Amino acid sequence: MSQENYLNWTEEKWREKLSPEEYFVLREAGTERPGVGEYTDTKTEGVYSCRACGAELFRSTEKFESHCGWPSFFSPLAGDTIIEREDRSMGMTRTEVLCANCESHLGHVFAGEGYNTPTDLRYCINSISLTLEEKPVEG
Ligand SMILES: [Zn+2]
Repeated sequence: MSQENYLNWTEEKWREKLSPEEYFVLREAGTERPGVGEYTDTKTEGVYSCRACGAELFRSTEKFESHCGWPSFFSPLAGDTIIEREDRSMGMTRTEVLCANCESHLGHVFAGEGYNTPTDLRYCINSISLTLEEKPVEG
């Protein structure tokens, strides 16, 4: 792993690394439109990394079909790969999900919606915040 400390990166540096669309979601907590993301319905086996810093965040084995329009996972790869914090924007109280390695915005997590998954959590993540690396994943 690189020793790069992404938490020290200036927004100017992020703007150089990311496309305008990636910057809007990852650094300005934007949301891509539902149903348009490249990984919404992806079932390919592999590991999803943070598109900003490359940290491994989610696996295909925890991805499920939520029909909400965004890639959905019932659990992150490990608890310490992400940060969850309260988000009171847009007149709602939601739980924002960020990459623990670079604190870029990934999406939100919702609980208790009744999905038939082991956790009843839905990590609703923007495709543009992720990069899928195809590789075997242990179940
Ligand atoms: Zn990251």
